[in-house]
Amino acid sequence: AECRAIFEQAIRENRTYLMEHECKEILENMGIATTGFLVAGSEDEAVEMSNKLGYPVVLKIVSPDVVHKTDSGGVKLNLAGEDAVRQAYRAMVDTFKYQHIIGIAVQKMAAPGVEAIVGVTRDPSFGPVLMFGLGGIFVEVLKDVTFRVLPVTAQDIDEMIREIKGYPLLKGYRGKAVDIDALKTLLLKISDFIMAFPEVRELDLNPVFLYPSGNVAVDARMFVS
Ligand code: ADP
Ligand code: MG
Repeated sequence: AECRAIFEQAIRENRTYLMEHECKEILENMGIATTGFLVAGSEDEAVEMSNKLGYPVVLKIVSPDVVHKTDSGGVKLNLAGEDAVRQAYRAMVDTFKYQHIIGIAVQKMAAPGVEAIVGVTRDPSFGPVLMFGLGGIFVEVLKDVTFRVLPVTAQDIDEMIREIKGYPLLKGYRGKAVDIDALKTLLLKISDFIMAFPEVRELDLNPVFLYPSGNVAVDARMFVS
């Protein structure tokens, strides 16, 4: 679906929260790689999708009422085969039996990469602000993040990437480096998107896995108005 159609559906349903699969469809439309936006409506469909994707896969709860999926038991990683998918599917449906469930997302398990986070919030005086940092312990313990008011130039993005403490991890550490050009492209696309759609109040890609070649958004949420 078009980005606009996804926003309109949320507004019609009186929601400001866009679920992961909706966000990822928007991101894919912008040429940003994600772990996909398939949603299964039954256990058999989840198995069929998993068989097509190839194992291991991930199941995640899809519900307008669940913003933090892991905290409530809504993420099952590294499912190695059909039996594991069936078991995880049933467990998840049971966990959320008193909640409004849209379905269960089925995704390929992304290869490990350097974890980054990308966020946008709207500041009452400065307007939209882009945040970039490294994920996991870097962001939680060291608060290793950097901010710029949008829109940003390629130069601004270059500076953002260089000024985080974890930059050596990106640039190359024991011969491993991440694709910095692809990371810059991702940040520019997010900047352009936010400038084009003022109805997006908040955006959160957490995590994005960065690879020696390319990157992939593993989780995404947005709030619209
Ligand atoms: P939430 O942030 O709502 O709890 P996420 O979708 O971010 O849920 O999933 C939690 C964690 O599980 C992620 O930070 C990531 O480490 C891992 N994860 C989620 N989806 C995948 C995937 N498709 N491939 C690999 N790891 C994943
Ligand atoms: Mg997340």
